[in-house]
Amino acid sequence: MFQTSYIELDFKALKKNIRYLKKEIGKMVRFVSVIKGNAYGHGIKDFIPLAEACGIDYFAVSDAYEAEIACSVLSPASELMIMGMIDNSDLEWAIEKNISFYIFELDRLEHTILSSKKLNKKARIHLELETGLNRTGFENDELEKALELIKKNREQLFIEGFCTHYAGAENIANYVRIHEQFTSFNKIKRYLNEKGIYPKYHHTASSAATLLYPQTRMDMVRIGIAQFGLWPSKETKIYQLYDGEIKMFRDPLQQILQWKSNIMDTKSVKPAKFISYGDSFLTTKQTRIATVPIGYFHGFRRNLSNAGFVLIGGRKAPVIGIVNMNVFIVDISLIPDVKKGDEVVLIGKQKKNKITVASFSELTNSVNYELLTRLPAEIPRYVINKEMHV
Ligand SMILES: *Cc1c(COP(=O)(O)O)cnc(C)c1O
Repeated sequence: MFQTSYIELDFKALKKNIRYLKKEIGKMVRFVSVIKGNAYGHGIKDFIPLAEACGIDYFAVSDAYEAEIACSVLSPASELMIMGMIDNSDLEWAIEKNISFYIFELDRLEHTILSSKKLNKKARIHLELETGLNRTGFENDELEKALELIKKNREQLFIEGFCTHYAGAENIANYVRIHEQFTSFNKIKRYLNEKGIYPKYHHTASSAATLLYPQTRMDMVRIGIAQFGLWPSKETKIYQLYDGEIKMFRDPLQQILQWKSNIMDTKSVKPAKFISYGDSFLTTKQTRIATVPIGYFHGFRRNLSNAGFVLIGGRKAPVIGIVNMNVFIVDISLIPDVKKGDEVVLIGKQKKNKITVASFSELTNSVNYELLTRLPAEIPRYVINKEMHV
């Protein structure tokens, strides 16, 4: 059965983004592709093979469920880490699959050691350190106890990483806090080194930290949003393109996702009529309308009512009336020859016009991240511009 919309992933754009990011971080820093939230709405299963074709060989997910999905397509040469939730009962599975995972509390550490003993296989662990995000991460006193356990169970554990996460590196308002976290991380790291614990990697940086605070790159970075061609924030983009002088005229990042549908119906409505539910939109003239089979159920948010735009025939068509659960209506009066079945671009390009994820987010007061991850997993994803993949 046809779905009411589809998503296109632009392989060529992804390749450019990764090339740009890899050039920024250099060869000595390992690139981890963060694919939590169904790869920021791009689709974990669709995205992994594309990223691998661009040379990515380390992925990070949020939980064991996402890890299982990732494993179903992951190449044997690629590695995987779980940054967040994993139930104690799933630890054995992770160790067996050679998936590394964060440890930020003693109970998980104890169960990891038990599982590792049971399987007679080392667990690859990342010690998450509390540096000021105040979410998860070992506090200093707990770290003492963790150290004892680690020392006693050296045979069970491979220390893959020391890590932490910054409290919003994309926002300049957090500048002082990020610096304090960086200092704190280094201090704890030195302390652990003095105790004889050295990890394979040190990783603290997301996209924004990687681009705004190069010292946070260390020997591994965890890149999410930027690989998809989106800036973590305006500050990040401005800083990257303009740093006292214009460094780049062209945006080095290209959005790889497009979201498209087709017109379900068109008709004319007389002047002085309300469109769809309620009375939020009143026609003031004879109005041509088109119905799009997408609604808030599909992630087209209700606050785009009377505010959003789509592209039809290469032109902007404004949303009129309330966005319903499964449909919304646009005004096509100014666009000639529109008919049922015509392409509707919700996010992406059509002829000379473009609707970016960022513009979409501004209208709905949600950040790029939230908008993307609201795209349902069921929408089919197709890869475009893959010819160059030989
Ligand atoms: C999501 C996430 C990242 C990636 O963040 P971006 O801003 O998308 O680059 C990195 N580290 C952790 C722990 C995360 O949860």
